[in-house]
Formats: sequence, C-alpha cells, structure tokens
Amino acid sequence: MPIYEYKCKGCGKQFEVWQKITEEPLKVCKDCGGELIKLISESGFILKGTGWYVTDYARKEMEKKEKQKKEKESVEKN
Ligand SMILES: [Zn+2]
Repeated sequence: MPIYEYKCKGCGKQFEVWQKITEEPLKVCKDCGGELIKLISESGFILKGTGWYVTDYARKEMEKKEKQKKEKESVEKN
C-alpha cells in the first residue's frame, strides 16, 4: 500500500497517509478544512512510486473498460 504525502494550504500541516491505490486522494484538511496539496516525495520514493502509478493507471483503465463493457452488455440484455 503506497504512502501519500499531503500538505495543507490552510494550516501548513504536512502529513503522510497510507491509502489503498483505489482510494480517492484526500482534498480537505481534517484539522482546519483547508485545501490539501498532494506532494511528490523524495527521490527513492518517486522511483518506486512510478511503478505504482503506472500499474495503477493501467489497471484503472482496464477496470474502466471492463465496467463499460459490462454496462453495455447489461443494457443490451434489457
Ligand atoms: Zn489544515
């Protein structure tokens, strides 16, 4: 499970969150309700991260196509 790093524009708090790949990125600070920026972490992490992102992206695209296919099929059945 990858670690995502966020910074709050409101209170300036910076924190890391373990999130599932399938989870939506956080957008709002729990403390002040400010806007969160997703940070790209240091070098070593980026290399690892790229794999995740590429894999994740490819998988999401595949899932999307699968879903569309299924939806289309169910529509045709009805
Ligand atoms: Zn905040």
